[in-house]
Formats: sequence, C-alpha cells, structure tokens
Amino acid sequence: MEEIIDLRSDTVTRPSAAMRRAMVEAEVGDDVYAEDPTVNRLERLAAELSGMEAALFVSSGTQGNLLALLSHCGRGDEYIAGQTAHCYRWEGGGGAVFGGIQPQPLEFEPDGTLDPDRIEAAIKPDDCHYARTRLVCLENTQAGKVLPLGYFPRLRALADRHRLRLHLDGARLFNAAVKLGVPVDAITCHLDTVNICLSKGLGAPVGSVLCGDREVIAAARRWRKVAGGGMRQAGILAAAGIFALERNVARLVDDHAHARLLAEGLAGIDELEVDPAEVQTNMLFVTVAKGDPAELERHLQGQGIIIRAGRTLRLVTHLDVTEQGIGRAVREFKAFFRR
Ligand SMILES: *Cc1c(COP(=O)(O)O)cnc(C)c1O
Repeated sequence: MEEIIDLRSDTVTRPSAAMRRAMVEAEVGDDVYAEDPTVNRLERLAAELSGMEAALFVSSGTQGNLLALLSHCGRGDEYIAGQTAHCYRWEGGGGAVFGGIQPQPLEFEPDGTLDPDRIEAAIKPDDCHYARTRLVCLENTQAGKVLPLGYFPRLRALADRHRLRLHLDGARLFNAAVKLGVPVDAITCHLDTVNICLSKGLGAPVGSVLCGDREVIAAARRWRKVAGGGMRQAGILAAAGIFALERNVARLVDDHAHARLLAEGLAGIDELEVDPAEVQTNMLFVTVAKGDPAELERHLQGQGIIIRAGRTLRLVTHLDVTEQGIGRAVREFKAFFRR
C-alpha cells in the first residue's frame, strides 16, 4: 500500500517515532499545580522564542485565541478581526459565548493584513451607545500569506494611539518567519499576545502555546482552568511540543517548496486555475474551472490522495507529504482530467 497523501490540512500530521519516544520519556507532574517540569520547559521555550515574559500551554489554537480574548476584553468590550479570521469565523463565536465580547469584523486586504485606516474608522468613540473597542486580532499566515514585516510596527503605533491591545493568531507563525528568514520575535516584538499552534506544520499531535506578558498570561491561566483546560500530567503532550519547536521549524522550507511544486504541476492542467507565483508558504488555492470537484475527490481518494472537494480547493503541505508524494498527486490530478 502506498502512503496516504492527505492534502486537506497540516493538522493531519502524525507524531514521528522520535517524537513519540520523547513523549514516552517525558518527566511529568501535576500542571494545575505548575509542577509538570516538561510543560514548564515548553512554556519557557515558547516565551523565549517569542521574546515574551511568559507562555501557557493550551489544548488547541481555538482555546489559545479564546483565552486571549477573555484576558484582554471584558463583557461589553469589542475586538476587531478579519471577516474570515479563524478567531471570528471558525471558533464558534467563543468570545461572545463565554465572554460577552463583541466582534467587529473587517474585510482582509489581499495581502492578509487589516487596513489601518479601516481599523481606525471601526474604533468606537467612548460613548454609551457603543461597545468598548479593546483589541485588534491579526492572523499570520493568513490563508497561507505572510504579513509584511513592516506592517507590524505600523499596527503597534495605531494600537498605542488608541490604547488597544494587539493579539496575533499565529497558528502558522513559524511558516511566516521561515519564509521571511527571520526569528519569530522579529514579528512578535510588536504584539501583546500571540498564539502558536504546535499541532499543524510543526507536527505535534495536540496543543498550542499562548505567549504574552506575565499579567496577561496569569489571567489566561485562570481562564484556562475555568474553560476546563487544566490538563494535569500534560508533559506527555508538551514533550511533543518541545520536540516540534526544536526539530521541526527549519524543515518548514520543504513544505513551502512542496506547495510551490504542487502548484507548478497543477498549473499545467487546463481545467485547473492556480498561480504558482502566489504560493508563499504551505498552502495553495486551486479553482476547478471545469469538471466535478466531488468526482475529482472520489478519484483521488481511490488513489490514496485526500482532498476536500469544492469549486476552490485548498491544498496544504506538511511533514507527512514528501516530494515523491507531490509527484504522485500531480500525476493523479492529470489522470483524472485525461479520462
Ligand atoms: C487551525 C487554526 C487555529 C486553531 O485551530 P485548533 O484546531 O483549535 O488548534 C487558529 N487559527 C488559525 C488561522 C488556524 O488555521
């Protein structure tokens, strides 16, 4: 049986044998008492890498973003986020559900940023008619796009002018940093909090880290317990996170090269529309201009290649997809359209 090539998301990665060994051997303790040495080590490592004072190991990116909202905002406060931002669109409205926090969505710009002028226009005056605008949430990468480095100091200045906090949903922050060739703290130094997913391209099975100053992380730690996220001997999971941060960052360049290679291969198929030059990191978007996407999905499935059908396909590369796998995927896309 040939290897399965799952292009739906980088969340599908499975822990490698070496990562599993690190998990098995992890020293553990009760993390709710802050006594799990491996969780503590992961939190120190994440804080160090992000240049923040503190970090918190959380169960998922969704939980990290939720704790950031709850820690920055109170009932009747508001956060500004992208219309298609994960923290607004894809997290069940958690800020509103648990915190009485109102979102103010704005369209993302084509480069994945939020336009500073539109943010400024959306900030509510201090008046009892309005929610209190407290926070701006950015996303990097945003649909695979890397936010320009120069954007962050501009947003920091804007936030300071209006006494807003800045949170980054950095689910794929390391993809952005590797693409730019900078350490992540070149980006995070402009932020109040950042959430980083360990369970995507970095290859850990579970978990995210939320980083920020001591005060905000102390608040988040409290909310994490309230949300049922106090995980006891979580060092077994944190060990995978440490392994991911130490061993799986530099290799992200391979995922980016594979995404580009896949786009180049698919660009040669008349029925598909994709511009390889637009592929920045590990994600590409392909329009199926002719043919039935559901049939395409079925054909590929039969060949051990997994996609999610749609008029526009989102394809994601990750550490369980090899260069040979990309070649096989391109051949099977071609075979489908030749029938
Ligand atoms: C995956 C993802 C998250 C968090 O997802 P979880 O599945 O909850 O870990 C947050 N933001 C973005 C942009 C994501 O892609």
